[in-house]
Amino acid sequence: MITILNYIIGEDDESKYPFLPEVGKQMSGYNIQDFLNSDLPILENAKDRIIYGLKNGTSPEFNETIEMKTIAKFSFPISMLIIKSTNQNYLISRFALAESRRVEELLHKENPDVIPQIFKTILNIQLSQSKDVTDKSNINSDFLTKNRFKYRINLSDYLSRSISLPKNQWRLVNRSVSGGYVFLTQDELIALLREEIYQMIRSKIDDLKIPPELLEEAALKSTLEQILKVAPRPPKAKIRVFSGEYPPCVAKAIEMIQKGDQVPHSGKFLMTTFLLRAGKTVDEIIDMYPTSLGFNQNITRYQVEHIAGLKGGGTKYEVPSCSTMKMKDFCYKTDACGTIKNPLQFNGKTQVKKHGR
Ligand code: SF4
Repeated sequence: MITILNYIIGEDDESKYPFLPEVGKQMSGYNIQDFLNSDLPILENAKDRIIYGLKNGTSPEFNETIEMKTIAKFSFPISMLIIKSTNQNYLISRFALAESRRVEELLHKENPDVIPQIFKTILNIQLSQSKDVTDKSNINSDFLTKNRFKYRINLSDYLSRSISLPKNQWRLVNRSVSGGYVFLTQDELIALLREEIYQMIRSKIDDLKIPPELLEEAALKSTLEQILKVAPRPPKAKIRVFSGEYPPCVAKAIEMIQKGDQVPHSGKFLMTTFLLRAGKTVDEIIDMYPTSLGFNQNITRYQVEHIAGLKGGGTKYEVPSCSTMKMKDFCYKTDACGTIKNPLQFNGKTQVKKHGR
């Protein structure tokens, strides 16, 4: 057991949230082979966990017995290792999304005392329960109860996360704020941190280093084969969207998005401005982000509409120059680029629509 702040994390929490540091500590005395060849069906459970998640979009719960909880706790790191071994970004993203959805579902039902401790541990965010507010808040407890505001989050932590959320509900003017804190219901808190839960799981997988000899393990090889046999195939890339040819940087951004890779903001911005200038509609661009790989359609819409000048101050953004893309480390220059100064000049073939300002 591990004590986090004043809450004791126990066996139940470890199987529900197997990315907690305590699970890693418990594994540290063993090597991976011990888990792959364990008497407990950890490998079998990891395989079931992956296949179920890939097919259903959320990972299963295994919490009927104490033995199942132990198996589930250790099958999570093993399933991360297996999914990473597929070397397929599409499957890795789908798995991370399924696991993050499972966590979200659990958090919605979670004891309110546990939630601040879990988020503090996994995302390093300081939250407190509204009932614990002891400062000179102008918000009284009847108001908090009536609005089901169970938590409060530091204003700057709130702003940095809510900025990309599209609905009016998240704008500060529509929130209850007092003493430098924003008050939230349990569901709102989970929605605010949803993206980070996914990113946390995704980066744990990305950071894994798999020793090559492990891939030669018979048990792992056979499990991998069974998973790949039934794993869903990535949707066909919708790459051809206009009559021109894509500059390498734009083609790269599209390819990364459709494979579920992490694309830097500069890449998404370039792709969106370019496609808008090439005559693609906002809806067509949003449609290129596969929701099955964790892209939230509301957030994508907000970002694309903003770049298209339909939101905010109405500014339509220009396609960044080649030198800007080079500076942002998102230039994939080939001979075909020649000496062009802007991706719009690529090969002289890009059919560009004039801005109708
Ligand atoms: S040179 Fe320009 S068009 Fe070519 S890859 Fe780099 S940024 Fe893109």
